[in-house]
Amino acid sequence: MTQKTGQLSGAQLSQLQSRGMHWLNSDALGLARNGGAGPTDHKALSFDGDTTMIPIAKHQDSGQQRSSPFSAKLDQHSGEVMIFDQGNLIAKATAPGTPRFYALSTAEGVPYSKIATLHSKDVLATTVMQTCVRYRNRDTSCQFCAIEESLAAGKTIAHKSPAQLAEVAKAAVELDGISQMIMTTGTPQSNDRGAAVLVASVIAVKAAVGIPIQVQCEPPADDIWLHRLKAAGADALGMHLEAVSDRVRKAIMPGKASVPLSRYMSAFKTAVALFGRGNVSTYILAGLGDTEDEILAMGLKLIDMGVYPFVVPFVPVAGTPLQNHPTPDGAMLDRIFSVLGPALAASGMTSSQLKAGCAKCGACSSLKQYEQTPAPMPLANHAEETAHA
Ligand code: SF4
Repeated sequence: MTQKTGQLSGAQLSQLQSRGMHWLNSDALGLARNGGAGPTDHKALSFDGDTTMIPIAKHQDSGQQRSSPFSAKLDQHSGEVMIFDQGNLIAKATAPGTPRFYALSTAEGVPYSKIATLHSKDVLATTVMQTCVRYRNRDTSCQFCAIEESLAAGKTIAHKSPAQLAEVAKAAVELDGISQMIMTTGTPQSNDRGAAVLVASVIAVKAAVGIPIQVQCEPPADDIWLHRLKAAGADALGMHLEAVSDRVRKAIMPGKASVPLSRYMSAFKTAVALFGRGNVSTYILAGLGDTEDEILAMGLKLIDMGVYPFVVPFVPVAGTPLQNHPTPDGAMLDRIFSVLGPALAASGMTSSQLKAGCAKCGACSSLKQYEQTPAPMPLANHAEETAHA
């Protein structure tokens, strides 16, 4: 059994997030994300206060998204977004408005929106370094990634300084009620794998404003960087596997696969001891080629270790080698979440219990809708079952 998000069940939300929806208004997309790290080409929609990111299906998309039965349009009178399945209205949602901090610029004239962006309804997110040592070479780049495309399009700047991040974070909290900040980064050449710039960024933001911060990077070569991130004031850490089998890692992300799974596991162990159970997490992109059993086995192993497996449907991004790759089956997501959700609840690692991060936000996956301990068996059934034992 899953919780309802507004009028949608967890299973419906899984379908909507994997298939995407056609946006019927030609000019009223409003606040949406295109390009960059995190959810790209998505629209944030709020169902009774729960915000979720829904991919926008486009004509150039792969078959499954192009043929998605879901569509949506803005009702100009009520301001609500009406969502349809094969033309039948199934839900109404609201779309978060443009945040006020987007209207501001730094003294040097850099718009705040090029330094950090709004994710979901109250998360401030930034990619501290918008370049990645693995990106330019197709032999090493992650095939799903578009990190430098938004830089090429002039939508962001290459390196956000600690002072710029502190200035924007303070404004976003004061003007828009931001509740947490997420800092990710492209991977540099150095062995810290991005942790060094995150340390400097966290120190600056924490000195300016007291919001929880999650940092995201590849496992650094030395655990000392995990200790430094914690000492800087980071509340949570994401180290993203993306794919769980060596087979898929080598095929889809050959550069990142040079950091072996064993290093992820040892870094997770150290990080859980530092940040606490659940405040260490990892993205797993369902649909890259890992089987359902592989994702389930890894997810349960991670929960056992105290790591939150944030399983997210893969969404192809235009301009990447995987732009025509199929999206995952919504029914498969439903089955995976139906196991992982109760396991998370039983381990005391539900989204609401976490301090910061994507698993806390939860907008890119319907997993948190499944975080319920199994209902206790009715006494009559229980007695009957005992009698049959
Ligand atoms: S889950 Fe993470 S990537 Fe997705 S909207 Fe929330 S903060 Fe952004």
